[in-house]
Amino acid sequence: MKLSQRVSQIAISSTANVFAQVTQLKAEGVNLVDLGPGEPDFPTPENIKHAAIQAIHANFTRYTSTDGIMQLKEAIIQRHAQDFQSDFTTNEVLVTAGGKHAIFNLINSLIESGDEVIIPSPYWVTFREAVHYASGCCQFVPTTESDNFRLTASQIESAFSPKTRLIMLNSPNNPSGAIIQTEEMKKIADLARCRGTIVLTDECYCHFNYQDLKPFSLASLGKAYRDHVVVVGSVSKTYAMTGWRVGFCLGPAKLIKAMLKIQSHCTSNVNSIAQKAAVEALVGPQTSILEMLGEYTRRREFIINALNSIPGITCNWPDGAFYAYPNVSHFLGSSRIPSVSDLAFRILQEARVAVVPGDAFGTKDHLRISYATSMEQLKKGVIRLEKFFKTL
Ligand code: PLP
Repeated sequence: MKLSQRVSQIAISSTANVFAQVTQLKAEGVNLVDLGPGEPDFPTPENIKHAAIQAIHANFTRYTSTDGIMQLKEAIIQRHAQDFQSDFTTNEVLVTAGGKHAIFNLINSLIESGDEVIIPSPYWVTFREAVHYASGCCQFVPTTESDNFRLTASQIESAFSPKTRLIMLNSPNNPSGAIIQTEEMKKIADLARCRGTIVLTDECYCHFNYQDLKPFSLASLGKAYRDHVVVVGSVSKTYAMTGWRVGFCLGPAKLIKAMLKIQSHCTSNVNSIAQKAAVEALVGPQTSILEMLGEYTRRREFIINALNSIPGITCNWPDGAFYAYPNVSHFLGSSRIPSVSDLAFRILQEARVAVVPGDAFGTKDHLRISYATSMEQLKKGVIRLEKFFKTL
Protein backbone atom coordinates (compact mmCIF):
# COMPACT_ATOMS: atom_id res chain seq x y z
CA MET A 1 0.00 0.00 0.00
CA LYS A 2 1.35 3.39 -0.89
CA LEU A 3 1.16 5.78 2.03
CA SER A 4 1.14 9.54 1.77
CA GLN A 5 4.45 11.37 1.62
CA ARG A 6 3.25 13.40 4.60
CA VAL A 7 2.90 10.45 6.92
CA SER A 8 6.06 8.77 5.63
CA GLN A 9 8.15 11.71 6.76
CA ILE A 10 7.28 11.27 10.43
CA ALA A 11 8.13 8.57 12.98
CA ILE A 12 5.98 7.17 15.76
CA SER A 13 6.57 8.89 19.08
CA SER A 14 9.47 7.13 20.80
CA THR A 15 7.86 7.64 24.18
CA ALA A 16 4.75 5.92 22.81
CA ASN A 17 7.05 3.16 21.59
CA VAL A 18 8.54 2.62 25.04
CA PHE A 19 5.01 2.65 26.44
CA ALA A 20 3.97 -0.10 23.98
CA GLN A 21 7.01 -2.26 24.84
CA VAL A 22 6.35 -1.86 28.56
CA THR A 23 2.67 -2.76 28.17
CA GLN A 24 3.62 -5.88 26.24
CA LEU A 25 6.24 -6.98 28.79
CA LYS A 26 3.87 -6.34 31.69
CA ALA A 27 1.18 -8.40 29.94
CA GLU A 28 3.73 -11.22 29.72
CA GLY A 29 4.12 -11.00 33.49
CA VAL A 30 7.60 -9.43 33.48
CA ASN A 31 8.48 -7.65 36.72
CA LEU A 32 9.37 -4.22 35.33
CA VAL A 33 10.30 -0.90 36.88
CA ASP A 34 8.78 1.65 34.59
CA LEU A 35 10.68 4.95 34.63
CA GLY A 36 9.53 5.80 31.11
CA PRO A 37 6.20 7.57 31.34
CA GLY A 38 5.81 11.31 31.30
CA GLU A 39 2.81 11.30 33.54
CA PRO A 40 2.08 11.83 37.20
CA ASP A 41 1.50 8.63 39.16
CA PHE A 42 -0.98 10.48 41.41
CA PRO A 43 -4.70 9.94 41.02
CA THR A 44 -6.76 12.84 39.68
CA PRO A 45 -7.93 14.85 42.75
CA GLU A 46 -11.35 13.86 44.17
CA ASN A 47 -13.08 17.20 43.51
CA ILE A 48 -12.21 16.92 39.80
CA LYS A 49 -13.46 13.34 39.54
CA HIS A 50 -16.62 14.38 41.35
CA ALA A 51 -17.27 17.19 38.82
CA ALA A 52 -17.05 14.63 36.00
CA ILE A 53 -19.45 12.25 37.74
CA GLN A 54 -21.87 15.12 38.25
CA ALA A 55 -21.60 15.99 34.55
CA ILE A 56 -22.59 12.44 33.64
CA HIS A 57 -25.55 12.48 36.03
CA ALA A 58 -26.64 15.82 34.57
CA ASN A 59 -26.52 14.22 31.10
CA PHE A 60 -23.83 16.61 29.96
CA THR A 61 -22.99 14.09 27.28
CA ARG A 62 -23.64 15.80 23.96
CA TYR A 63 -21.49 17.65 21.48
CA THR A 64 -20.33 21.00 22.77
CA SER A 65 -19.16 23.89 20.65
CA THR A 66 -15.97 22.86 18.89
CA ASP A 67 -13.78 25.43 20.62
CA GLY A 68 -14.91 24.31 24.08
CA ILE A 69 -17.65 25.31 26.52
CA MET A 70 -17.66 28.97 27.52
CA GLN A 71 -17.30 28.05 31.19
CA LEU A 72 -14.03 26.26 30.45
CA LYS A 73 -12.69 28.96 28.16
CA GLU A 74 -13.32 31.50 30.90
CA ALA A 75 -11.75 29.26 33.52
CA ILE A 76 -8.60 28.88 31.39
CA ILE A 77 -8.36 32.64 30.88
CA GLN A 78 -8.90 33.38 34.56
CA ARG A 79 -6.43 30.82 35.80
CA HIS A 80 -3.77 32.04 33.38
CA ALA A 81 -4.46 35.66 34.36
CA GLN A 82 -4.18 34.81 38.04
CA ASP A 83 -1.01 32.75 37.66
CA PHE A 84 0.78 34.83 35.01
CA GLN A 85 -0.91 38.25 34.73
CA SER A 86 -2.12 37.65 31.17
CA ASP A 87 -5.32 39.15 29.75
CA PHE A 88 -6.77 36.94 27.03
CA THR A 89 -10.35 37.16 25.81
CA THR A 90 -12.65 34.29 24.88
CA ASN A 91 -11.95 34.52 21.15
CA GLU A 92 -8.27 34.00 21.95
CA VAL A 93 -8.67 30.55 23.50
CA LEU A 94 -9.20 27.10 22.02
CA VAL A 95 -9.86 23.98 24.09
CA THR A 96 -8.02 21.02 22.59
CA ALA A 97 -7.64 17.30 23.27
CA GLY A 98 -4.45 17.82 25.26
CA GLY A 99 -1.52 20.15 24.72
CA LYS A 100 -0.26 17.84 21.97
CA HIS A 101 -3.39 18.44 19.93
CA ALA A 102 -2.98 22.21 20.35
CA ILE A 103 0.59 22.00 19.02
CA PHE A 104 -0.46 19.91 16.06
CA ASN A 105 -3.31 22.28 15.11
CA LEU A 106 -1.07 25.28 15.59
CA ILE A 107 1.74 24.03 13.39
CA ASN A 108 -0.64 22.96 10.68
CA SER A 109 -2.24 26.40 10.77
CA LEU A 110 1.07 28.23 10.47
CA ILE A 111 3.69 26.22 8.65
CA GLU A 112 4.05 25.77 4.92
CA SER A 113 6.47 23.61 3.01
CA GLY A 114 10.01 24.93 3.51
CA ASP A 115 9.20 27.23 6.44
CA GLU A 116 11.81 27.06 9.18
CA VAL A 117 11.01 26.40 12.81
CA ILE A 118 13.62 26.99 15.51
CA ILE A 119 13.61 24.26 18.16
CA PRO A 120 16.09 24.23 21.06
CA SER A 121 17.44 20.77 21.81
CA PRO A 122 16.94 18.63 23.72
CA TYR A 123 13.29 18.96 22.71
CA TRP A 124 10.05 17.15 23.25
CA VAL A 125 9.68 14.61 20.41
CA THR A 126 6.36 15.88 19.14
CA PHE A 127 7.82 19.32 18.30
CA ARG A 128 10.02 17.80 15.62
CA GLU A 129 7.50 15.38 14.17
CA ALA A 130 4.65 17.90 14.04
CA VAL A 131 6.88 20.27 12.02
CA HIS A 132 7.89 17.45 9.67
CA TYR A 133 4.27 16.48 9.17
CA ALA A 134 3.56 20.02 7.98
CA SER A 135 6.61 19.80 5.64
CA GLY A 136 8.45 22.44 7.63
CA CYS A 137 12.20 22.40 8.35
CA CYS A 138 13.45 22.18 11.93
CA GLN A 139 16.43 24.35 12.85
CA PHE A 140 17.70 22.73 16.03
CA VAL A 141 19.55 24.90 18.50
CA PRO A 142 21.65 22.81 20.90
CA THR A 143 21.67 24.02 24.50
CA THR A 144 24.70 23.40 26.68
CA GLU A 145 24.79 20.71 29.32
CA SER A 146 27.27 22.66 31.47
CA ASP A 147 24.71 25.52 31.55
CA ASN A 148 22.10 23.04 32.71
CA PHE A 149 20.60 23.11 29.18
CA ARG A 150 19.26 26.63 29.78
CA LEU A 151 18.50 28.36 26.52
CA THR A 152 19.79 31.86 25.73
CA ALA A 153 18.37 34.39 23.29
CA SER A 154 21.67 34.57 21.42
CA GLN A 155 21.44 30.84 20.69
CA ILE A 156 18.03 31.49 19.12
CA GLU A 157 19.29 34.54 17.25
CA SER A 158 22.05 32.54 15.59
CA ALA A 159 19.49 30.15 14.09
CA PHE A 160 17.33 32.86 12.48
CA SER A 161 16.98 33.03 8.71
CA PRO A 162 14.55 34.86 6.40
CA LYS A 163 12.53 31.62 6.32
CA THR A 164 12.06 31.47 10.11
CA ARG A 165 8.38 31.36 10.89
CA LEU A 166 8.16 29.95 14.40
CA ILE A 167 10.23 29.45 17.55
CA MET A 168 9.13 26.59 19.81
CA LEU A 169 9.97 26.96 23.48
CA ASN A 170 9.23 24.59 26.30
CA SER A 171 10.03 25.68 29.81
CA PRO A 172 10.37 23.74 32.08
CA ASN A 173 11.70 21.46 29.41
CA ASN A 174 10.88 17.87 28.68
CA PRO A 175 13.36 16.08 28.88
CA SER A 176 16.06 18.25 30.52
CA GLY A 177 13.91 20.12 33.06
CA ALA A 178 15.68 23.37 32.08
CA ILE A 179 13.87 26.62 32.76
CA ILE A 180 14.54 29.52 30.41
CA GLN A 181 15.42 32.52 32.55
CA THR A 182 12.93 35.40 32.40
CA GLU A 183 15.40 37.88 30.88
CA GLU A 184 16.26 35.45 28.09
CA MET A 185 12.57 34.80 27.47
CA LYS A 186 11.95 38.52 27.08
CA LYS A 187 14.86 38.87 24.68
CA ILE A 188 13.50 36.00 22.59
CA ALA A 189 10.08 37.69 22.46
CA ASP A 190 11.80 40.89 21.29
CA LEU A 191 13.61 38.97 18.58
CA ALA A 192 10.34 37.43 17.40
CA ARG A 193 8.62 40.82 17.36
CA CYS A 194 11.43 42.57 15.50
CA ARG A 195 11.61 39.84 12.89
CA GLY A 196 7.87 39.28 12.50
CA THR A 197 7.85 35.67 13.71
CA ILE A 198 5.89 33.83 16.37
CA VAL A 199 7.02 32.22 19.63
CA LEU A 200 5.15 29.21 20.85
CA THR A 201 5.62 28.75 24.57
CA ASP A 202 4.66 25.30 25.83
CA GLU A 203 3.79 25.73 29.51
CA CYS A 204 2.66 22.18 30.23
CA TYR A 205 5.10 21.84 33.18
CA CYS A 206 4.87 25.44 34.38
CA HIS A 207 3.76 24.53 37.91
CA PHE A 208 6.63 22.13 38.56
CA ASN A 209 9.50 24.41 39.30
CA TYR A 210 12.22 23.72 41.92
CA GLN A 211 13.95 27.05 41.48
CA ASP A 212 11.81 29.21 43.69
CA LEU A 213 11.45 31.53 40.70
CA LYS A 214 8.52 33.85 40.25
CA PRO A 215 6.32 32.19 37.59
CA PHE A 216 6.64 33.95 34.26
CA SER A 217 4.77 33.63 30.98
CA LEU A 218 5.53 35.46 27.75
CA ALA A 219 1.81 36.21 27.65
CA SER A 220 2.32 38.75 30.43
CA LEU A 221 4.32 41.02 28.11
CA GLY A 222 1.23 42.83 26.92
CA LYS A 223 -0.36 44.10 23.74
CA ALA A 224 2.81 44.90 21.79
CA TYR A 225 3.69 41.20 21.75
CA ARG A 226 0.16 39.99 21.18
CA ASP A 227 0.62 38.85 17.58
CA HIS A 228 3.91 37.14 18.36
CA VAL A 229 3.17 34.93 21.36
CA VAL A 230 1.13 31.74 21.52
CA VAL A 231 0.73 29.74 24.72
CA VAL A 232 0.05 26.02 24.85
CA GLY A 233 -1.05 24.57 28.17
CA SER A 234 -2.70 21.48 29.56
CA VAL A 235 -4.36 20.05 32.64
CA SER A 236 -2.55 16.74 32.06
CA LYS A 237 0.52 17.20 34.25
CA THR A 238 -0.69 20.00 36.51
CA TYR A 239 -3.72 18.13 37.85
CA ALA A 240 -2.70 14.52 37.15
CA MET A 241 -5.23 14.30 34.31
CA THR A 242 -3.24 12.79 31.44
CA GLY A 243 -6.00 10.40 30.41
CA TRP A 244 -8.74 13.03 30.34
CA ARG A 245 -7.26 14.76 27.28
CA VAL A 246 -7.79 18.44 27.90
CA GLY A 247 -5.37 21.11 26.80
CA PHE A 248 -5.60 24.59 25.39
CA CYS A 249 -4.09 27.24 23.23
CA LEU A 250 -4.08 30.97 24.00
CA GLY A 251 -3.11 33.28 21.16
CA PRO A 252 -4.13 35.73 18.47
CA ALA A 253 -7.81 35.38 17.49
CA LYS A 254 -6.95 34.89 13.82
CA LEU A 255 -4.72 31.94 14.61
CA ILE A 256 -7.24 30.43 17.03
CA LYS A 257 -9.88 30.64 14.30
CA ALA A 258 -7.60 28.83 11.85
CA MET A 259 -6.86 26.09 14.39
CA LEU A 260 -10.58 25.76 15.01
CA LYS A 261 -11.15 25.06 11.32
CA ILE A 262 -8.80 22.07 11.49
CA GLN A 263 -10.32 20.88 14.75
CA SER A 264 -13.86 21.14 13.36
CA HIS A 265 -13.02 18.52 10.73
CA CYS A 266 -10.96 16.31 12.97
CA THR A 267 -11.82 15.77 16.63
CA SER A 268 -14.64 18.32 17.04
CA ASN A 269 -15.05 19.26 20.69
CA VAL A 270 -13.06 17.79 23.55
CA ASN A 271 -15.00 15.18 25.56
CA SER A 272 -17.85 17.05 27.26
CA ILE A 273 -17.39 15.35 30.65
CA ALA A 274 -13.65 16.00 30.66
CA GLN A 275 -14.36 19.66 29.93
CA LYS A 276 -16.49 19.92 33.09
CA ALA A 277 -13.76 18.17 35.07
CA ALA A 278 -11.20 20.64 33.70
CA VAL A 279 -13.36 23.58 34.84
CA GLU A 280 -13.24 22.23 38.39
CA ALA A 281 -9.48 21.63 38.09
CA LEU A 282 -8.90 25.26 37.11
CA VAL A 283 -11.34 27.06 39.40
CA GLY A 284 -11.34 24.65 42.38
CA PRO A 285 -8.70 24.33 45.12
CA GLN A 286 -5.13 24.34 43.78
CA THR A 287 -3.61 22.58 46.79
CA SER A 288 -2.97 19.31 44.93
CA ILE A 289 -0.34 21.03 42.79
CA LEU A 290 1.75 21.95 45.81
CA GLU A 291 1.36 18.49 47.27
CA MET A 292 2.62 16.94 44.02
CA LEU A 293 5.46 19.43 43.79
CA GLY A 294 6.50 18.54 47.36
CA GLU A 295 6.60 14.87 46.45
CA TYR A 296 8.50 15.50 43.19
CA THR A 297 11.02 17.56 45.16
CA ARG A 298 11.72 14.61 47.47
CA ARG A 299 12.01 12.20 44.55
CA ARG A 300 14.27 14.56 42.59
CA GLU A 301 16.63 14.76 45.55
CA PHE A 302 16.75 10.98 45.75
CA ILE A 303 17.10 10.11 42.06
CA ILE A 304 19.66 12.76 41.09
CA ASN A 305 21.91 11.87 44.03
CA ALA A 306 21.49 8.17 43.30
CA LEU A 307 22.33 8.55 39.60
CA ASN A 308 25.38 10.66 40.35
CA SER A 309 26.64 7.97 42.69
CA ILE A 310 26.76 5.38 39.88
CA PRO A 311 30.35 5.39 38.51
CA GLY A 312 30.40 6.71 34.94
CA ILE A 313 27.07 8.60 35.15
CA THR A 314 26.70 12.34 35.64
CA CYS A 315 23.35 13.99 36.06
CA ASN A 316 22.38 17.66 36.19
CA TRP A 317 19.84 18.97 38.67
CA PRO A 318 16.68 19.71 36.65
CA ASP A 319 15.18 23.18 37.23
CA GLY A 320 11.63 21.91 36.76
CA ALA A 321 9.31 19.19 35.35
CA PHE A 322 9.83 15.61 36.61
CA TYR A 323 12.61 14.08 34.55
CA ALA A 324 16.25 13.25 35.22
CA TYR A 325 18.46 13.44 32.12
CA PRO A 326 21.70 11.66 33.01
CA ASN A 327 24.72 11.66 30.70
CA VAL A 328 25.74 8.07 29.99
CA SER A 329 28.33 8.73 27.27
CA HIS A 330 30.94 6.85 29.35
CA PHE A 331 29.19 3.59 28.39
CA LEU A 332 28.61 4.32 24.71
CA GLY A 333 30.57 3.84 21.54
CA SER A 334 31.87 0.35 22.13
CA SER A 335 30.90 -2.33 19.67
CA ARG A 336 28.61 -3.77 22.34
CA ILE A 337 26.69 -0.55 22.95
CA PRO A 338 26.94 1.66 19.86
CA SER A 339 24.16 4.08 20.76
CA VAL A 340 21.99 5.28 23.60
CA SER A 341 19.01 3.47 22.01
CA ASP A 342 20.93 0.22 22.26
CA LEU A 343 21.72 1.04 25.86
CA ALA A 344 18.06 1.73 26.69
CA PHE A 345 17.13 -1.54 25.00
CA ARG A 346 19.65 -3.48 27.06
CA ILE A 347 18.50 -1.80 30.26
CA LEU A 348 14.96 -2.92 29.46
CA GLN A 349 15.96 -6.48 28.56
CA GLU A 350 18.61 -7.10 31.20
CA ALA A 351 17.81 -4.80 34.14
CA ARG A 352 14.06 -4.76 33.48
CA VAL A 353 13.90 -0.98 33.86
CA ALA A 354 12.13 1.12 31.22
CA VAL A 355 13.80 4.44 30.32
CA VAL A 356 13.65 6.57 27.17
CA PRO A 357 16.80 7.02 25.04
CA GLY A 358 17.91 10.63 24.59
CA ASP A 359 18.23 10.39 20.81
CA ALA A 360 14.44 10.66 20.77
CA PHE A 361 14.93 14.16 22.18
CA GLY A 362 17.83 15.19 19.97
CA THR A 363 20.85 14.33 22.15
CA LYS A 364 22.89 11.16 21.84
CA ASP A 365 24.49 10.84 25.28
CA HIS A 366 21.50 10.81 27.61
CA LEU A 367 18.67 8.75 29.00
CA ARG A 368 15.41 10.21 30.21
CA ILE A 369 14.30 8.88 33.56
CA SER A 370 10.91 9.93 34.85
CA TYR A 371 10.52 10.43 38.59
CA ALA A 372 6.77 10.77 38.31
CA THR A 373 6.62 7.37 39.94
CA SER A 374 6.56 6.16 43.53
CA MET A 375 9.64 6.36 45.74
CA GLU A 376 9.42 2.59 46.14
CA GLN A 377 9.66 2.07 42.36
CA LEU A 378 12.45 4.64 42.09
CA LYS A 379 14.49 2.85 44.78
CA LYS A 380 13.95 -0.50 43.09
CA GLY A 381 14.91 1.02 39.72
CA VAL A 382 18.11 2.52 41.10
CA ILE A 383 19.21 -0.81 42.60
CA ARG A 384 18.68 -2.50 39.24
CA LEU A 385 20.47 0.27 37.32
CA GLU A 386 23.47 0.21 39.69
CA LYS A 387 23.78 -3.54 39.23
CA PHE A 388 23.41 -3.28 35.45
CA PHE A 389 26.00 -0.52 34.97
CA LYS A 390 28.50 -2.43 37.14
CA THR A 391 28.41 -5.28 34.62
CA LEU A 392 29.41 -3.03 31.69
N1 PLP B 1 4.24 19.46 25.92
C1 PLP B 1 5.21 18.74 26.48
C2 PLP B 1 6.55 19.34 26.62
C3 PLP B 1 4.97 17.45 26.96
O1 PLP B 1 5.94 16.74 27.53
C4 PLP B 1 3.68 16.91 26.80
C5 PLP B 1 3.39 15.53 27.20
O2 PLP B 1 4.22 14.74 27.50
C6 PLP B 1 2.69 17.72 26.22
C7 PLP B 1 3.01 18.97 25.78
C8 PLP B 1 1.31 17.26 25.95
O3 PLP B 1 0.61 16.72 26.96
P1 PLP B 1 -0.94 16.49 26.79
O4 PLP B 1 -1.22 16.27 25.35
O5 PLP B 1 -1.23 15.30 27.63
O6 PLP B 1 -1.59 17.73 27.29
